[in-house]
Amino acid sequence: MKYNSPWIKVLNKRNVLKIVHENRPLSRSEISEITGLTPSSVTRITKELIEEGFVQEVGSEGKNSPGRRRILLDIKSDAFISLVFDVGVNVTTYGLGYFDGTVTLGGSFETPKAPEKFFEKVKEIFDRYSATKKINRVSLSVPGMVDMEENRILMAPNLGWRDVVINDFLKLDIPILADNEANLSVLAEKYHSEDMKDVKEAVFIVIREGVGTGVLIDGKLYRGPTYTAGEAGHMTVDMRSDKRCHCSNRGCWELFASINWAIQHYEGKLEGKNAIEKFASLKKKQDSRKVLEKLAENIAIGVVNIVNILNPQIVILGGEVQDLGEYFYRIIEEEVKRRALKDATKELKIRPSIFGTVSSNLVGAAVLAVENIIENVT
Ligand SMILES: [Zn+2]
Repeated sequence: MKYNSPWIKVLNKRNVLKIVHENRPLSRSEISEITGLTPSSVTRITKELIEEGFVQEVGSEGKNSPGRRRILLDIKSDAFISLVFDVGVNVTTYGLGYFDGTVTLGGSFETPKAPEKFFEKVKEIFDRYSATKKINRVSLSVPGMVDMEENRILMAPNLGWRDVVINDFLKLDIPILADNEANLSVLAEKYHSEDMKDVKEAVFIVIREGVGTGVLIDGKLYRGPTYTAGEAGHMTVDMRSDKRCHCSNRGCWELFASINWAIQHYEGKLEGKNAIEKFASLKKKQDSRKVLEKLAENIAIGVVNIVNILNPQIVILGGEVQDLGEYFYRIIEEEVKRRALKDATKELKIRPSIFGTVSSNLVGAAVLAVENIIENVT
């Protein structure tokens, strides 16, 4: 093996950028310690990364080592900008994603039902932003399965999209990325949450019009060979049910654990023109507690199955239920502890997502763009 080959140099450079990303700010000697690269290699690589605008020097850490000022390195958050979209079944939200994995919200629009109309809208927004900023990636969070090799939306059941090749509809001279919303959510948590730093197995459950799950195994997203992993919303929880799902099966978990179930089973009147608005109205009603408690139980049934199969350390709930009070999570926890294998729940933590106004889906789309940029550094 030739250690001075250009390819090894590229891999080292990507690795250093990744290390700075994950441990920022840090000194050159710390990079050398973590990577095992010689100090001179680290000096050369960081010089390149600074010149190319990825990394910057941010003052020194002199307090604990008097007389010896160490310069620290951090990433430049505005080094690269991505335009990120959270494609919702009813409403799509968009914003700008930065190199530190944060997002500023831009706006939202009603999701057109036809893919060509939807991508026309995306192009329009891209053109508007591009007039004043250099956009490096477009990254989409999709409520369905995405073949990331072909950039093909295999199926987004609640949108009625099937086999949508994104690049056929959206022609740009920058990379377009897309992934399932629950996958992106677990990526966002992995990147930003304190309690996820040492977690290798985790599941993120997005509860919206449908139910999706993102699965982290051995610290990495598990997408499956044909990109359908984590479609736990379509596991059968009632084998004799006559309730038909969008996926064509009957008795799927999402028929019982989505916000649509709660809306259908609430007896009062709800305001709003789509499921998200109706569910927001439901949450405010004094007499909605019973239906929400039942929803928590229904969610718990799926969590039990997931916990028994994957033995995760953390189960995170996001989407429209993450702002429901402690009682909601207590019901889920109690039901899961009661039904799941005792050894599977010993160290299990169930909690709402840390993301609020800016959704985990949108932040995840920004993190996906960051990962893509690092993976393509030359
Ligand atoms: Zn289904």
